[in-house]
Amino acid sequence: MYTTKRYTASISIDEYLENYVDIPTFLECCKACPNYNQIWSCPTYDFDVESYWKQYHTFDLIGVQMIFDEESRLKEYTAEELNKVIKASILPEKQKLTDELFKKEKEVPNSISLSAGSCIMCGKGNCTKPEGKPCRHPEKMRYSIESLGGNVGKTIHDLFHVDLEWMEEGKLPTYFVLVCGLLS
Ligand code: SF4
Repeated sequence: MYTTKRYTASISIDEYLENYVDIPTFLECCKACPNYNQIWSCPTYDFDVESYWKQYHTFDLIGVQMIFDEESRLKEYTAEELNKVIKASILPEKQKLTDELFKKEKEVPNSISLSAGSCIMCGKGNCTKPEGKPCRHPEKMRYSIESLGGNVGKTIHDLFHVDLEWMEEGKLPTYFVLVCGLLS
């Protein structure tokens, strides 16, 4: 159904902050998302986001482009079918990246990973944030690039020469791109 293509890039945090991070703009985007204030890995935060980036020197990015074959792309899907396909493709790739980054965290002292998208560990609608209870797995929860004000579209355009593609109703896009990385 799909093949994958992998991209990597390394950039200093100073350069990343200067060219790819715009905290106020992306906070406004987050406010329009149903996850806003509903998941511990999403804003609002009780820490200063710029200072979070500045604890590190280097950002090693990984991108995985999932390219769908022609047969899958030409098909028409109901919303339910499309959700199934997305879950069956994105979730396993996201898990592989999470496992890889957790391994890297152990290898690189004082590093932390940024996940491809928001935390889904407890399942949809099951995060403890709305109840004001602590995160169930703080040792595994990681923020995403976009939740810390990173412009993922510009990042992959400039560093991987790939553009984000939006989905049409009832259709799969040509590809999805998962973007994550390691701060060290
Ligand atoms: S691990 Fe569970 S409680 Fe913590 S942010 Fe993720 S979904 Fe929420």
